[in-house]
Amino acid sequence: MLLAAAMLPLSGAAPPGAYDLAGKLQASGLDPEACYRVTGLRLAKDDLKIFFNAGYLILAKPVNGVRPGAYFASDAAGGDGEVLLLPPNRAERLSMARFTGAPNMDAHFRNALMVFSDDTADRLEAMLEHPEAGEPFHKNRDIGVRLEADATEALRSLYATFSIRLVHDLLSPAKERGVFVMATLGSALGTFDVIYDPAAPPRITAGQNAERNGHQFFNIWSSFATRHAGETEFGELFRSGSYRIEATLDAGLAMKVTTRLSFETTTAINEPLPCLVSPRMTITGAELDGAPMEVYQPPAAAGGVPPFEEGQDMLLIPGAPVAAGRHEMVFHHQGSVIEHTGGDVYFVASRGSWYPQIGIPVAGFDITYRYPKALTLVSTGEVVEEGVEGGQRYTHTRTPSPIRFAGFNLGAYESVRLQRGPYTIRVYANRATVVAPGDSPIPAMSPSAVRPLTAPAPETPVAAPNLERFASETASAFSFMASMLGPLPIRSITVSPIPGTFGQGFPGLVYLSTLAYLDPAQLPAEMRNRDSQTFYSELLEAHEIAHQWWGNLVAPEGPEDDWLPEALANYTSLMYLESRKGAKAVSAVLEEYKKHLLARDSQGRTIESGGPIVWGARLRNSETPNAWRVITYEKGTWIIHMLRQRMGDAQFERFLRALCEKNAGGTLSTRAFQEAAARFIAAGGPDRQLRAFFDYWVYGTGIPELRLKYSVRNLQMRGSLEDKDAGDEPAAWVPLVVTGADNLPRLHWVEAGAEEAAFSFPVRRASAKAALSPDWLWHSAN
Ligand SMILES: [Zn+2]
Repeated sequence: MLLAAAMLPLSGAAPPGAYDLAGKLQASGLDPEACYRVTGLRLAKDDLKIFFNAGYLILAKPVNGVRPGAYFASDAAGGDGEVLLLPPNRAERLSMARFTGAPNMDAHFRNALMVFSDDTADRLEAMLEHPEAGEPFHKNRDIGVRLEADATEALRSLYATFSIRLVHDLLSPAKERGVFVMATLGSALGTFDVIYDPAAPPRITAGQNAERNGHQFFNIWSSFATRHAGETEFGELFRSGSYRIEATLDAGLAMKVTTRLSFETTTAINEPLPCLVSPRMTITGAELDGAPMEVYQPPAAAGGVPPFEEGQDMLLIPGAPVAAGRHEMVFHHQGSVIEHTGGDVYFVASRGSWYPQIGIPVAGFDITYRYPKALTLVSTGEVVEEGVEGGQRYTHTRTPSPIRFAGFNLGAYESVRLQRGPYTIRVYANRATVVAPGDSPIPAMSPSAVRPLTAPAPETPVAAPNLERFASETASAFSFMASMLGPLPIRSITVSPIPGTFGQGFPGLVYLSTLAYLDPAQLPAEMRNRDSQTFYSELLEAHEIAHQWWGNLVAPEGPEDDWLPEALANYTSLMYLESRKGAKAVSAVLEEYKKHLLARDSQGRTIESGGPIVWGARLRNSETPNAWRVITYEKGTWIIHMLRQRMGDAQFERFLRALCEKNAGGTLSTRAFQEAAARFIAAGGPDRQLRAFFDYWVYGTGIPELRLKYSVRNLQMRGSLEDKDAGDEPAAWVPLVVTGADNLPRLHWVEAGAEEAAFSFPVRRASAKAALSPDWLWHSAN
């Protein structure tokens, strides 16, 4: 009976709750009875200061007893509003200046729409009725009627944009976590938004919607934790979890799924639970501990699926408060997450979001798939049982240890199985044709996608790859990494094709671009250049295999740490390249990366200057859409390479292995990574805690533009190193390779600065020479 109740359609007949509230928001608007003539009204949120200098402020009509919005319109006679925002550090000021022309924001605007779920409504009403000085502000109903007509549609549109957050907050008893959003109109900077979000840590964000080549971006001008950071830390909500999933694919590969999730919460939950699932999936019913639960899943935003491929937010609204302890949720969901791309080749679009996720960091998975008999399905986890039943094939898998994401792949495959020590390696390939990508969607925050699609290629039939040879190369790459980085908790590694120009590495399951299966000469004509051949034929597969350690065994702690698994996986793939083709092959790749980092955008700024690597997805904006990829992967790789120079080869390999050993099954933050690296820095060098190194390369921007001068007199080398790129940045230490007559290269660490930074040290021969190391990221000022 409970199941039947849960299977009812959720819209329309749903009990009063999220849909009811969302509907009320869409039916409400501005309130002419609450329109005031204001002068010098000041609204402050930590470091964000807003002034309504002269104009009318009209509050929104109450919804469930609270006013969730307001609108400000300046007087015709030159009144305005003003936003003041002072970014707290250099990187944020540079970013603000990059977009607005000034390092601090002091922006005037004519109109502003606001939506909020914090205490803004109470504060505004108190200030309007009881100003600190002078008479209360006068109400003006006639103006209110006009403003209501002008701005109600825009207010509803803003309600819709933030509906998940507003509905969540308005259904939560705790008001201290509400959000404040202001969209300004009629400013010299164009329409822009400021957001104050007290979720831990409290954060202020200013930015602007922008479009480029048909793609939508939200350009973040500045986003930083406020001075009050740390006051409202929230601990982990979930202690553990495990999934039991039954998924059936019909002849057309539409999927019907029952997902059971048991989990343990650390505290009682008294508010809607955010949940993430692919917009290709519709939740048709949900239960918590056997009782129906409302699911608020707004329709996918206009503009299509791609930006949300990694999952769209929705809300789960339990019928009663959830006590701390163990619980079970059941979801019934269905949709099409697989695209048929021609022939017997399939594209699994929602690889990591085809089942609902509620924020449990890692979980065990027990999954049974039923699917058309003619196909082969591969999955994360070890196969428990396989067979044919009722005209369908089934595969039952289970993970030996908790993992972050579970995925599957399917096709008409041929396969090769190899044993390497305790590991079974299975390599699957499409049987007849290889299909190069259509415009497949790659998400901004994919756990480990290598690169977003650039040029869609036509379907390209080619000879089937030499699978035996390819599989043995796969096993070699895996063995190389296992011996360098240490053991994995899983014993089975599956490599399977995906028709796209990227790869992705789930625990035990690698999705690999069909292009990577090919010999370099088989690549489509437009990819037969050194860059593409190196990427597809030398690096991509090793990079994805390396994610078994970097990303899966050791996961990033937060979004600002997402660069770590990418940089480490990519560097591991370069070490494998080095083992086969020598250090010169690695240098050639690093040189290419350097070129990309130093490439200029339309404003003449380098791609690298887009922002610190820890900014992650924020680096992707309409001005430099490729900055996120180039900085995360290519600068990230350089950062690891430079750490290797600081450590020396032997210590560097010990460092990598220790990182895996110490953090296996856990997470790694950028700060913990720095502390771990500092323990492997050789004595005698500068900056042994790597503070300057991380401030410059990880938390800052810049590539030193160097000019070296030196001379040798009386067996003393004296010189200077000038960095033309240096402003008020922290110092960059650069290795100088000194060769004496005995031809033994020796590294000397010298500091570069805006002024000519002097150095001096003894050498063995008068003929000694110095050069800047080619294994360091810099470029010549000459
Ligand atoms: Zn990756």
